[in-house]
Amino acid sequence: MVASDQSILERRVIPTEASAGPEHVIRRVIDLSNDFKQAASRRGVRLTGIGIGAPGSIRAARGTVVSPPNLPGWTEVALVEPVSRAAGVPVTLDNDANAAVVGEFWSGAGRGTRDMAMLTLGTGIGGGVVLNGALWRGRHENAGELGHKIVIPDGRVCKCGQRGCLEAYASASTTAQRACELIAGGKRSSLADVVSRGETLTSKHVCTAARAGDALAREVWEETCRLLAVACVNLQHTLNLERIILAGGMSAAGDDLLRPVREHFGRQMWADIGDRPEIVLAELGNDAGFVGAAYLAMKHAGVAVGATTGGR
Ligand SMILES: [Zn+2]
Repeated sequence: MVASDQSILERRVIPTEASAGPEHVIRRVIDLSNDFKQAASRRGVRLTGIGIGAPGSIRAARGTVVSPPNLPGWTEVALVEPVSRAAGVPVTLDNDANAAVVGEFWSGAGRGTRDMAMLTLGTGIGGGVVLNGALWRGRHENAGELGHKIVIPDGRVCKCGQRGCLEAYASASTTAQRACELIAGGKRSSLADVVSRGETLTSKHVCTAARAGDALAREVWEETCRLLAVACVNLQHTLNLERIILAGGMSAAGDDLLRPVREHFGRQMWADIGDRPEIVLAELGNDAGFVGAAYLAMKHAGVAVGATTGGR
């Protein structure tokens, strides 16, 4: 539960229990809404709206979730109408990646900007764009799928079916996967010890080994950072942004990620134009999604939300 001054009043974490089907999950969301209504009442504040950030493709205008990868059996499921009817307050729905972008925009690494984008580097690469102070959804409501920008024509096959997507190279999981493939191909690396111990190789292993001077890990990590920079250059030429935020599990690499991405960006960007974005790390972690969903709900309900002023 988030107040209009950006303070977090209450938080709950519950399992989705998606395998029990859409009706069960919706029931749990409604129970959670009732829990928050009671919490608001105890605090003497009014619950003005509920914001939902859900995985997968969203039809925001229709209030439905379409075939999310982690929710089997959800072909197109209405979420807004049943929750709104049960809770008696307006409900907004957006993609969870978009909600996280809005969270950082409002009270995290994007505050004070009007035009920004975020790349969330996890199992896949999520993203989102804020233009002129508002989330940009686009004509078909799928804007901001930044992980599926093609950075290598006819390159590696992506889960989406395209070839050469950023996500096929530079997510946390595909970074680790590329290292595994080189080791399986016979290249020598300290990372081979991780694999032979039966551990799952992660992007953190790759980053740590790269820092320690392992040649294969350096090659893989540099390629990840170079392609992230390519995506940032393309974003900048398309949108002329003030800030690009790197978020998600892999952003825990901190300067080991930021420094090479900034360097590759500097080398690849059109040298004669000075209007470059700041490339920075996210600040809110896992809170970004619910903070952003709350912001969208408050905007929808006409609440005067705290300004994003203050800068960094
Ligand atoms: Zn893709």
